[in-house]
Amino acid sequence: MKNKILITSALPYANGPIHLGQIAGAYLPGDIYYRYQKLKKRDVIHICGTDENGVPITIEAEGAGKSPQVLVDYYYDNIKDSFERMGIVHDNFSRTSIQLHHKQAQDFFIKVYDKNYIVTKNIKQYYCPHCRRFLADRYIEGTCPYCGCDEARGDQCESCGRWLDPENLISPRCKVCGDTPVLRETKHWYFRLDLLQPELEKWIETKKHWKNNVKKFCRGWFNEGLKPRAITRDLSWGVPVPLKEAKDKVLYVWFDAPIGYISSTIEWASKIGEPDLWKDYWLNPETRLIHFIGKDNIVFHAMVWPAMLIAHGDYILPSEIPANEFLNLKGAKFSTSRRRAIWLHEVLDTIEPDLLRYALSVNLPENKDTDFDWDDFQNKVNNELANILGNFVNRTISFISRSYSSKVPGAHDLKDEDKYMLEFLLKTKNNMEEKIEGFELKKGIKALMELAKKANRYFDKTKPWENIKKNKDKCSRTINTCIQIVDGLATLMEPYLPFTSRKILKMLDINKNEWDSIGRPRIPENKEMGKIEILFKKVENETIKIEKEKLGIEELKMADIISIEDFSKVEMKVATIESAEKVENAQKLTKMIVDIGGEKRQIIAGIAEFYEPEELVGKSIIVVTNLTPAKIRGIESNGMLLAATKGNDLVLLTIDKEIDPGAKVS
Ligand SMILES: [Zn+2]
Ligand SMILES: [Zn+2]
Repeated sequence: MKNKILITSALPYANGPIHLGQIAGAYLPGDIYYRYQKLKKRDVIHICGTDENGVPITIEAEGAGKSPQVLVDYYYDNIKDSFERMGIVHDNFSRTSIQLHHKQAQDFFIKVYDKNYIVTKNIKQYYCPHCRRFLADRYIEGTCPYCGCDEARGDQCESCGRWLDPENLISPRCKVCGDTPVLRETKHWYFRLDLLQPELEKWIETKKHWKNNVKKFCRGWFNEGLKPRAITRDLSWGVPVPLKEAKDKVLYVWFDAPIGYISSTIEWASKIGEPDLWKDYWLNPETRLIHFIGKDNIVFHAMVWPAMLIAHGDYILPSEIPANEFLNLKGAKFSTSRRRAIWLHEVLDTIEPDLLRYALSVNLPENKDTDFDWDDFQNKVNNELANILGNFVNRTISFISRSYSSKVPGAHDLKDEDKYMLEFLLKTKNNMEEKIEGFELKKGIKALMELAKKANRYFDKTKPWENIKKNKDKCSRTINTCIQIVDGLATLMEPYLPFTSRKILKMLDINKNEWDSIGRPRIPENKEMGKIEILFKKVENETIKIEKEKLGIEELKMADIISIEDFSKVEMKVATIESAEKVENAQKLTKMIVDIGGEKRQIIAGIAEFYEPEELVGKSIIVVTNLTPAKIRGIESNGMLLAATKGNDLVLLTIDKEIDPGAKVS
């Protein structure tokens, strides 16, 4: 086994925040693996950063009337902050718009160019006479030749989904000014993937343990024969091509982005004051390079990027490319560009990171796509995390606090049942090592939960609450064994549930986990326990309801047929909104005081994205008045307003003519 490990996670594209699909695809797996290797005291670093170049960013920036730099600055901060809050640790989180990266990418280009792996080609490309520039594919719109949609982009028709070339479009126009572009000759630089095919094929053959789907994919490409691929574009944002004759051209983002792994490592080394240390990883054949990515990145990391590295010649090639399938949202793909997602920074406002880390870990899309759904999340947190893991830890420590004045009882002459548990702890450790090393992270967390389950059963069977009087020796053996398992669990869970692990350490009054000491009891007799803390609060129905509302997921229940009597139980009244304000730290919620005919009520509703507070004041709305009051984010809501919703729209129900507040609706 090579002794150094360089882990990278896919560079997130800086045109939007991070969503849960990306977390499950690359970032959480990368973090779990990294934290585990750290615990094993291996020489490991975890490198990442934002990918900030390319046409989608310039288009997004232009659309928002901002400069690309302002846009990427915003998302860099947003993404970095989301990762930190989620407990995803990188030794360096860089970005590809910095000078260091530009220089690194340009040097890379020159080296490959000098080795004759880059050629030029003259091609015809659309040019806008009004804007006086060549138009990259997404800067051209027109009519789709397949489906007739008149807003097809130069690279794809979103309506029918087909990939296009700009020349396919009927009546093309410049996206910026609307003028008709003309075809003009221009020069571009191409990377000779064709020349690299033989070496690439040989290299992939050595990857015996790679997943079959990856190898099959590559073989398909080899059979067709690799072709030279354009690495330059006409754009003003990005890494300038370092050649005099390539004025106004930048490197295509696919070429510069992965070089970001190297620049980020260089930045890390200089930040820690050892500027040459990066070479120990990138230039050292004793280093394992591991790229955590989502499946949409497989071909790139298994073929194109290694081809670039082979062409360059100085750097090591990837050892492993753990690629996950997709995490879907109720059967549809998460998508940043379509804004269909659960955004990490938003969800962390209401939900503890470890609860998400758990629900995602046990559901990682390692071999097939998996679904995320909020009911399942609630079930996993309440019935697995809280009832099994949290319960075992808390019952053990509370028992010590109650019955032994917070001091760990000694264990002498362990019996078979106790020894069995300690052996099972050691077995779990070995099992988890095997799974994590083999990138089967889901099985790792399941093994941990199996241990917690067994430990609970052991606690039940040995009945310390009875034996504290009937058989004191047995009771102290049980509790001592349990506290050693709690300690072991804290260590084993650190890669998956780092925040919870720290909480347990605090209760045990220990300052750090030691992976390799698992199985050797390290909590001495009479050790005093710290203050007890509940590990996991159960997730309330109300929280789940709010999260679903945010997504616009309506309950997919068939409307029951109800009788008139049932319907008449619902009391609805006209109410006038007297005041309204947004709820602090909750983007979607508005707090209102309404008047329902002399009676004032406070109502919390998820309408902040649709109505500004000042538009609401004075409106007459319809309110259901006989519901049990609910707490939303800790604030009481005493009534429910009626609104019509469809997709992403919401409008309030109001009255056709003036009538006094308090009037009954029937
Ligand atoms: Zn189409
Ligand atoms: Zn134009």
